[in-house]
Amino acid sequence: MNTDLKKLLEIQQYDKEIADLDLEVQRMRAKEDKIVEVVQIKQNQIEEAEEELNELKKDLEFEQNLLQETIDNLNKLEIKLNNVSNEKQLQAVNTEIEMAKTNKMMLEKKVESLKEEIHLKEKGLAELNDRYEQLKRTLKESQEKFDARRREIEEQIEKITKTKEELLPTIDRNVLKRYERINRWAKGTAIVPVRKNACYGCFMKLTPQVLALLEDTDEIAYCPNCGRMLYIEEETQQEE
Ligand SMILES: [Zn+2]
Repeated sequence: MNTDLKKLLEIQQYDKEIADLDLEVQRMRAKEDKIVEVVQIKQNQIEEAEEELNELKKDLEFEQNLLQETIDNLNKLEIKLNNVSNEKQLQAVNTEIEMAKTNKMMLEKKVESLKEEIHLKEKGLAELNDRYEQLKRTLKESQEKFDARRREIEEQIEKITKTKEELLPTIDRNVLKRYERINRWAKGTAIVPVRKNACYGCFMKLTPQVLALLEDTDEIAYCPNCGRMLYIEEETQQEE
């Protein structure tokens, strides 16, 4: 195989490795963002639940105060009942007592139901807090894992880039330029093998002239259809 082409093939492999590593970093970032988002949602839910709980507690206090007032009022009415001087007054106080009793019953029910609601809300809030803490732990663990892997990847990319940059100046400038031009649109498939007498980039059958150029000479052959650089795979590679 043409030595420049052999080197370019190596360059293509390095670029692919770098692209794969970049993709891995992107995927990790997406995963991390997803967990951060879920943690944020949980946090918002907790804040909402806390607000609701505070409202319920205020409501409860309000109703409890009303209930106390009603009870005080009832006590006063009981005393008043003992001091009535005629039938008309008796009736009036009795009516008031009945109303106060109904009121008291209603308020007691309301207080009970609010207490129940608060109890449930507190239970829900505790569960939310548990889940939130759990998520934060997961996030921290993931971030540590991701950070370690990212550092590893950075080092790998640096190493590959260094090897690549050492190789680049040893390649014929014009061949390199042409490779880079093809790579701009072919993105990682500027050099492709010939398989079943076809270009493995665009899958067009190659003419006998191109195949002869590839098989019999050391010149770089280009696909007449798509323009990619072509090479014949080694026997061992084909068997893989
Ligand atoms: Zn082609």
